[in-house]
Amino acid sequence: RGDGIEGEDVTENARTIRSLPLRVRSELAAFEVRGEVVMNRRAFEQLNAERERQGLSRFANPRNAAAGSIRVLEPWITAARRLDYWAYFLLVDGNPHHDSHWESLEALAQMGFKVNPNRRRCRDAEEVIEFWRQWAEERERLPYEIDGVVVKVDSVAQQRLLGWTAKAPRWAIAFKYAARQAETVVEDISVQVGRTGTLTPVAHLRPVEVGGVTVSRATLHNEDEIERLGVQIGDTVVIERSGDVIPKVVRVASYGSPRRAFRMPSSCPVCGGRVVREEGEVASRCINTNCPARLKESILHFASRGVMDIDGLGEALVDQLVDRGLVSSVADLYELKLDDLLPLERMGRKSAEKLLKNIEQSKQQPLPRVLTALGIRFVGERTAQFLAEAFGSLDAIAQADVETLQQAEEVGPRVAQSISDFFREPRNQELVERLRQAGLRFHHRVERRRGGPLEGLTFVLTGTLPGLSRDQARQMIEAAGGKVAGSVSKKTDYVVAGEEAGSKLAKAHELGIKVIDEAALRRMLGERA
Ligand SMILES: [Zn+2]
Repeated sequence: RGDGIEGEDVTENARTIRSLPLRVRSELAAFEVRGEVVMNRRAFEQLNAERERQGLSRFANPRNAAAGSIRVLEPWITAARRLDYWAYFLLVDGNPHHDSHWESLEALAQMGFKVNPNRRRCRDAEEVIEFWRQWAEERERLPYEIDGVVVKVDSVAQQRLLGWTAKAPRWAIAFKYAARQAETVVEDISVQVGRTGTLTPVAHLRPVEVGGVTVSRATLHNEDEIERLGVQIGDTVVIERSGDVIPKVVRVASYGSPRRAFRMPSSCPVCGGRVVREEGEVASRCINTNCPARLKESILHFASRGVMDIDGLGEALVDQLVDRGLVSSVADLYELKLDDLLPLERMGRKSAEKLLKNIEQSKQQPLPRVLTALGIRFVGERTAQFLAEAFGSLDAIAQADVETLQQAEEVGPRVAQSISDFFREPRNQELVERLRQAGLRFHHRVERRRGGPLEGLTFVLTGTLPGLSRDQARQMIEAAGGKVAGSVSKKTDYVVAGEEAGSKLAKAHELGIKVIDEAALRRMLGERA
């Protein structure tokens, strides 16, 4: 990717794009294909939503997002962004191989490249204009955004005659559509609560027609965006609509008089729970795990694999449980009865009984899982494990102040603040109480088998092991009678180091403690490597 002179090698990332063939059928010994990487609207919206959750800034448009995605350092990140590739040119020795552009597009398609099917060979300018008009309407239905159509002279001989200006060919032009913008007044700004608890400010507009559609709402994304735009209630703004993406406010056209600044509410408009904006985050969110706006997402997280492991509690079922009012808190899961489940769609007696059994079994999940299940921001599996080790019980964690919480490994001020905020919300305190009554494990017990091959030995895990998650390695060691400690000391017998091992490995070398890899650990456990 580059400007023709300088660029970056993005081959490894490009290989992950599914529509880019890794093998081509061709008689040509060497050839060059030029094209474009495209991100569709849905992937774009999902990427931006994900970035907001992580406290990162949004990409301004799909084009920037696609360019950013092909340049990221890790191929798996590129792969996750579901990019598409359209081929536009087939060249041999830098020149078109066919007599017409149309033929070369057909050849590219034959070779297995993705070529845009929405193309037409027009005989004259009239036909071009007709095609352009047709897509002015139909572009709404495309899964990606376009701002016009590209018109090219088909004959390569004529292309050569026309030549190039300093910047661009004279035989191709972008025939653009007018930007779908309009001016209107912001009558109010309210907030919407999303599935993850994020509060999104929404501008209520005096209804206005933009490109054939009446628009009365536009997203303002977050507080920073409102500040950047400098928009207040009463102002006249320019809004823009692109495809089926929610319209957005582009800029303030003129100040209203009177005008009134928007304030993010301090309590959730849906449930009244506390609204928190964490340090370094752009989004404000409701931290009540049982907030109706968040509930479905909270339940899915609670039940998911690696958390409470409640098999059979999928999206379709959660929808029914919440919509029928059977579950209005994750704690309600533990009060479900067979009679509640039987009337549900696609729910036989057998699967209902099985689900209840799985819910019952989830009560045996250890404290780190319970902590993860609560959905405290920044507290994942790993942090939960460190917290459980450092404090020993859920109550000790809930009662600890921000300072004390940081005694746990890898818990910094931001994570500590989030934990403290969570347990100070009365609705969450009530949830914790109900989960206690349901019989979930609130104490951290490490059960070691007596007489196992690793009895009496203390291990420290560091870095990424090739074949085991940290949790799995820990379970294997503990099941064999060994102990896993969080930090390296003179009492440590072995440090199990994987890739990118950090300070713990250095400490082990310093203290002269034996360092082993995963294969050696497996051998100690009596497994064949
Ligand atoms: Zn709420």
